[in-house]
Amino acid sequence: MTGIVPQRFETVLSSMCTEPHPTAVAAAEQFLASNAGDPATYQAVAALEETAVALLAEITNAPAPSGYITSGGTEANIQAMRAARDRHPRGGSTIVIGSHAHFSFQKAAAVLGMRCEVVPTGADHRADPDAVAAHVDADTAAVVAVGGSTTFGRIDPIRALTEIAHDAGALCHLDAAWGGFYLPFTDAEWDFAATGVDSMTIDPHKAGRSVIPSGGLLFADPTAAAPLRVETPYLASADQYSLTGTRSGAGVAAAAAVMQTLWPDGYATEYTRAMALAERVATACRERGFATPEVELPLVATQLPEGVLSELRSAGWRIAATPGGYARIVVMPHVTEAMVRELLTTLDAVT
Ligand code: PLP
Repeated sequence: MTGIVPQRFETVLSSMCTEPHPTAVAAAEQFLASNAGDPATYQAVAALEETAVALLAEITNAPAPSGYITSGGTEANIQAMRAARDRHPRGGSTIVIGSHAHFSFQKAAAVLGMRCEVVPTGADHRADPDAVAAHVDADTAAVVAVGGSTTFGRIDPIRALTEIAHDAGALCHLDAAWGGFYLPFTDAEWDFAATGVDSMTIDPHKAGRSVIPSGGLLFADPTAAAPLRVETPYLASADQYSLTGTRSGAGVAAAAAVMQTLWPDGYATEYTRAMALAERVATACRERGFATPEVELPLVATQLPEGVLSELRSAGWRIAATPGGYARIVVMPHVTEAMVRELLTTLDAVT
């Protein structure tokens, strides 16, 4: 390990993870050796998981706190698809996603023996309800809506997608893995109460400022999680709903601690700061002649001239492109005004 140090966050521009909040770090350190997968033995962490799920339910306006702290968005999405498949009367074989949905749904389909129907995303980088409706049929187990897309930070028409799913006897899952800690402060109709979605991914280890690993999976109806239940004969507790067995107590404790600290005011302040900074980045990119779509959540996608992205990477910036060839600048809590000024200086030097 000598000489190997983590990356500096001052150059990280395309990550959906960030520097954890100090309360998350302190809580994680205390629970490093606690296994959330064995709640009867590690009772303190089990109580913290209840707190974390209750807070996630409050943030998302869920009818009841139902769900668990996952290893991340991928596990949450896989488990939501599994629950949807198994409650379908004929074991629904397809998942309908927009082409902007996270690749974890491809993993879910592969693991679960399902098929992903990938519907081309509209010109506005959101799911197109008419196109989605045309792909939904009696074999559809779930329609996926995205609340804060990884590519453009866009919010799908979630209520319309939910209606399409329900009309076909399918469930609607909202992937708000990244967007979920910003959406409460927008005008968007996104939460359980406003849209009627059946399940949701919302990850404290992204914009929630928890430590890795802490994702979140929630269900509107607690009985919807029944297909995930497995008996755990050699443990003192009766059953388990998670995909992994041993689970990070550190992630659970950190999620509970940071949400207790930041919900709602701390997250609201960060949303306002990040949106203002994202708008400034977008304006600066447009002033330089780069096509930059409107900012909806704090993620700027900008079309840099050929070769510029690799020049930025050579200069030390950790930056990636969307499938459409846009550079992605995710204005996470660690992305500051000073970082943006430095980025623009590099950009001006290389263009
Ligand atoms: N869903 C969305 C919208 C994401 O942006 C990501 C990751 O960036 C995921 C799911 C997967 O989450 P994880 O990497 O925590 O498994």
